[in-house]
Amino acid sequence: MIAVAIDGPSGAGKSTIARAVANALGYLYIDTGALYRSVGLYALRSGADPHDREKVKALLPGLTLSLRHVEGVQRVFLNGEDVSEAIRTPEVSRASSAVSAHPEVRAFLLETQRALAREHNVLMDGRDIGTVVLPDAQVKIFLTASAEKRAERRYKEYIEKGIETSFETVLQDVVKRDYDDSHRAAAPLKQAADAVELDTSEMTLAESEEAVKAIVLARCGQEG
Ligand code: C5P
Repeated sequence: MIAVAIDGPSGAGKSTIARAVANALGYLYIDTGALYRSVGLYALRSGADPHDREKVKALLPGLTLSLRHVEGVQRVFLNGEDVSEAIRTPEVSRASSAVSAHPEVRAFLLETQRALAREHNVLMDGRDIGTVVLPDAQVKIFLTASAEKRAERRYKEYIEKGIETSFETVLQDVVKRDYDDSHRAAAPLKQAADAVELDTSEMTLAESEEAVKAIVLARCGQEG
């Protein structure tokens, strides 16, 4: 099996780029952020403060998460309910970052992620894929871009979806999530020693996709 790990801060374009490259190469695309977002959503719905480690930990036994691929598109199911859209809000973004700091949450999601990589050629995106989840991945890419560029992209996504927010709020969220994700004790966001860094600040989406594809093909041989 081939595993490609793509890590990096939020809004670097990981999911869009990773999905396109996975489709082009015939690998299964796994967006691991969707798992953390689902735990965040569950905490919010249960009235638990996502920062409260004990409360969140107590929720885990009541939670079943699964990723399924419908015509190549990943859907995430929380206790049988498809929450793929419900997890894409600013509130859930914040909650997901908070719950992802709890070691029990990370341990809870680890096996789900590893099992997928055992069964398929995967292109998996997240924060700790190259460092913790799949340390033996054949290809590791650390995808990044300036905080302003990333906030600009997220802001556009929210506006397109009709979610009301301001650019400043999104930028503040991006900066705070970067800080929290890279300073937490459990599996912080950091570049694996053997990862290739790719800064997409000045690249178009198409250029970024080409660059990622080229890195994967250079390491894993022929296309297809
Ligand atoms: O990638 P996305 O923005 O959807 O991730 C949501 C949150 O989940 C991130 O802010 C991060 O805190 C957390 N996350 C993580 N490890 C991963 C993927 C996401 O901690 N592998």
